Amino acid sequence: MPSYKAKAIILKSYKLGESDKIVKMYSQDGDIINAVAKSARKIRSKFGGRLELFNLVDLELSTGRNLDIINQVEIIKSFKNIALDFYKFVFCEIISKIILKTQVSGGDSSPLLFKLIYACFNEINNLDPEDVVSLKKTMCFFGIKFLRITGYVPLLENCSKCNQELKNLYSFHKDKIYFSVKYGGILCRKCADSSGGMEVLGASDYRFLYDLFNLKLEDFRDLEVSLPTLKRVYKLIENYIIYHTECNVESFKYFKKIGL
Ligand SMILES: [Zn+2]
Repeated sequence: MPSYKAKAIILKSYKLGESDKIVKMYSQDGDIINAVAKSARKIRSKFGGRLELFNLVDLELSTGRNLDIINQVEIIKSFKNIALDFYKFVFCEIISKIILKTQVSGGDSSPLLFKLIYACFNEINNLDPEDVVSLKKTMCFFGIKFLRITGYVPLLENCSKCNQELKNLYSFHKDKIYFSVKYGGILCRKCADSSGGMEVLGASDYRFLYDLFNLKLEDFRDLEVSLPTLKRVYKLIENYIIYHTECNVESFKYFKKIGL
C-alpha cells in the first residue's frame, strides 16, 4: 500500500469494531482525511492519547480502499483547554461539524480553511473559561471567514437582488439596513419592500458584520460589540450558513434551547 505523510487537525472520531477508531481530519493541504487507527482503543495502544479531538497531529498513513490507515501519529499541538470547558467544546464541535458537512474527501482542497480552523481552535483554547461572549464573537469570525473561503460570501455593498450600489451604509445612523438570507446580502429599499423574510439590521449590526469580513483575527479580537448586536449578527450568520450550505447542525438548535 502506498504511504504518505500529513499534518492534520482531528475533527471527529468514533469507534469501529472491538478496538479500532475512525478518525476524520482536515489536513494542512486542505483535504479531508478519513482514516482508521487500528487497536487505538486498546489500553496498550501505540497511539496513546494522541488521537484526541481537535489535536493538530503529524501523521504517517497508508492509502486504503475506503479508509486510510494511520501507522504513526505525533502531536504537534494539543488544545487542552477545549475539552475542559463545556462551551468551548460545543463551539469547536460546531466548527468541526460544519467542515465535515460541507467538505468531502477528494473535493476542492483549501489550505485557507485549515488555517481558519487552526486559528479558531487556538483562539477558543486561549479564551477565559466560560467567556461565552468571546466565544460567540469567535464563532461569528469563523462563520464569516468560512463563507468567504467557500464562496458563499454575502453581498454587503450592493443590493443582493438588483445589484444597485448602496452608498454610505457604514455611516448610517437612524436608517434600517435590510438583509436577506435568501438573496444573500443586503437589499435596497425598493427590493426590501417587495421581498419578504428579511432581517432588519441597525447601523452598528451592519458595521460589525462589515468588520468581520475585513478584519484579521488579531484586530477583530479587541473590537467592542454590544450584546444585542452580537446576538443578532450571530443568528444571521447561523441562518445564512444553514440556508446556503444546508448544514443544519444540531448544536445550533441546542444552543437556542439553552438560550445562547
Ligand atoms: Zn435592489
